[in-house]
Amino acid sequence: MWRHKLDIKDFRGKGRATRSVHGGAGIDPLTRAVKRPLVMSNNNENLVGQSGFLYARDASANGRWLEEKLAALEEAEDCVVTSSGIAAINGTFLTLLSAGDHVIAPDISYTSVHEFTSNHLPKQYGIGTTLVDTTDVRKIREAVTPRTRIIHLETPHNPTTELDDIAAAAEVAHRAGALLTVDGTWSGLTTQAPLKLGADLVMHSLTKYINGHGDALGGAVLGRKELLDRIRFTAVKTLGMCLSPFNAWQIMRGAATLPMRMERHGASAMEVARFLEGHPKVAWVRYPGLESHPQHALAKRQMTGFSGMLNFDVKGGTPALREEIGRRLEIFTWATCLGHDESLVAIYNDRKGPMFRVSVGLEDPEDLIADLERGLSAAEGK
Ligand SMILES: *Cc1c(COP(=O)(O)O)cnc(C)c1O
Repeated sequence: MWRHKLDIKDFRGKGRATRSVHGGAGIDPLTRAVKRPLVMSNNNENLVGQSGFLYARDASANGRWLEEKLAALEEAEDCVVTSSGIAAINGTFLTLLSAGDHVIAPDISYTSVHEFTSNHLPKQYGIGTTLVDTTDVRKIREAVTPRTRIIHLETPHNPTTELDDIAAAAEVAHRAGALLTVDGTWSGLTTQAPLKLGADLVMHSLTKYINGHGDALGGAVLGRKELLDRIRFTAVKTLGMCLSPFNAWQIMRGAATLPMRMERHGASAMEVARFLEGHPKVAWVRYPGLESHPQHALAKRQMTGFSGMLNFDVKGGTPALREEIGRRLEIFTWATCLGHDESLVAIYNDRKGPMFRVSVGLEDPEDLIADLERGLSAAEGK
């Protein structure tokens, strides 16, 4: 099997901010540049294996430096970066599952994960899937079959902000001889540690908080090297789900400030959530940091921050009213995606029906609150 040659620096014992700045960093030996150069060459001179790199689809220098940074941040044995978050997740399924196997996945998950697990895996690949409400570990346990190979979680869930109990699901998975995989995109990586809670692999969309500036797509899988070598071979090298060196270079810069940004996202989201909860025109708010969140106790146990994602709806909400609220917002951008420097809002549907999905950005929280106040003035009543 193909193997890269660079070793991951040992950052154990160092703080998260130090790891986010120094992970994967180093002086360029040719130019003495302090920052990693962008290497767009798609092949490498490698007659006697000098560089460890052959061809950029298999592995690129910028991709490998980003993998080192992310592995240092997540305190994982290794990392594989991919072209998107979806490539990280569905590429893992395509690598580790075979016809006749069975996978348990959430009944509410990111759209393309839902599409792949509900449709493509069973209908095209002969892989049985059971979609359950993974927020209830009993439902996961009941769905286990002798063929179950992977239990997949998404926590916090997109778009509901509901949580899955990682440690409890890990116990169920391991008792069944299955792997536990966790899509931790909404946590922004720094607010939870799935690998420490027993997950075998954690996936992130780098497109969201980790790049953090809304200008690059990317994905990552982190965990045990033995599993990641297989994912690198099948998903990246064989299926071509590789990350562009340019995107890796850009995401590397974004990721250096991740811990600091996540603190700000979390603190501002808490202020916005409390403002909305106290607002007479707001019907309900869901944010894991609020005592009113149905899984607030689990959030406190499993997370060290609550990230920047929340949901709410307006009293008497109709499609026209929600649109009018959106039109009145001046700072929030009416757009999908999340985890960017700028605040975003969009309408989504979940178990509770239509709602606003809010990604609280890095602006001053007072300005965000004033903007929401302006938007909510579209609703009736005082
Ligand atoms: C956005 C997202 C993904 C997919 O990531 P892409 O980079 O857009 O492919 C997967 N899971 C969750 C929870 C997401 O929010």
